[in-house]
Amino acid sequence: MITREFNIQSMVRDNIITLKPYASARDEFAGQSEHMVFMDANENPFNSIVNRYPDPKQTELRVRISQLKNVSPSQIILGNGSDELLDLLFRAFCNPGKDHVITLPPTYGMYEVLAQINDIEVVSIELDSDFEPQVSKILENQNESSKLLFLCSPNNPTANNFNTNTIETLILNFNGIVVIDEAYIDFSKRESWLNRLDEFPNLIVLQTFSKAYGMAGIRLGMCFASETVISILNSIKLPYNINVLTQMKALDRLSKTEIIQTEIKRIIEQREWLKIELDAIPWITIVYPSDTNFLLIKVDNANKRYTELISKGIVVRNRTSQPGCDNCLRITVGTAIENLKLIKTLKTIS
Ligand SMILES: *Cc1c(COP(=O)(O)O)cnc(C)c1O
Repeated sequence: MITREFNIQSMVRDNIITLKPYASARDEFAGQSEHMVFMDANENPFNSIVNRYPDPKQTELRVRISQLKNVSPSQIILGNGSDELLDLLFRAFCNPGKDHVITLPPTYGMYEVLAQINDIEVVSIELDSDFEPQVSKILENQNESSKLLFLCSPNNPTANNFNTNTIETLILNFNGIVVIDEAYIDFSKRESWLNRLDEFPNLIVLQTFSKAYGMAGIRLGMCFASETVISILNSIKLPYNINVLTQMKALDRLSKTEIIQTEIKRIIEQREWLKIELDAIPWITIVYPSDTNFLLIKVDNANKRYTELISKGIVVRNRTSQPGCDNCLRITVGTAIENLKLIKTLKTIS
């Protein structure tokens, strides 16, 4: 089934290849938990739910996610938000001061920030006027120092999915690892690339609990890749990166997936309602199609409209300084009541 040969090991930084990972107390012994007397980790013995260190491998949670996503638990690593997982990718694969990554603006800002923190150059190839990747330009700009290509699909802030053939061409022809950030996939009609993970050894898929799953506050991101990639990332992640409360809350939420599905359905319905209403406002010139839980709109004067909305108690995101997003605002879909308030407010300003 593998459609591409790829040597992952050759992409890994030398210091990571030779790394001897920290073995935590709970790592060394993971047995029949409840019945054992734990005197190995210098914890306070009095039970308070959180007195013990968390499971460093998050086994129960990863098994649950694996059932949900139909991916083996050995192909999953969890992070303190997707942001931690993105940072791990830089630390595993990108040599500071030497390698570069490719991003496709306008897109999620963290790719560039994390690149800067890790002293990695960013090669930016703007999306075309349809907000699609410029494949030939991307491939012309790659060389042996190109380590990661970030494809955010559906993309933030443009709200569209990239063309499936375009993404496939990039995975098949990019020298390095292609990271597809699917933070908004649950709001999309499109199938997740998780279903094709086993075809491409250089593919990494990121998802998150922060958007559709309604848990931005617990900080939990998911990374899916080949077993080889996951074991490299496991060797460098901090031992107890997902705390006890986060693991508990996530498991609880995943025991009620119908609720998540109902909320997603309501958000999508509201998005479609909002789109129609926004289209009728004269100073909104474009409401872009959306496969996400937000709408990107083009207005007559983004700075002016942004300030007016703030003064009326509504905060949206001003994206006007982003490439290709002149006079654009990004509006997250709220509850029916919030959306109605937004539309009523917009109608009062001319
Ligand atoms: C919101 C968002 C995330 C989520 O990041 P977390 O750290 O998991 O909260 C990731 N990628 C994109 C493109 C996003 O918009």
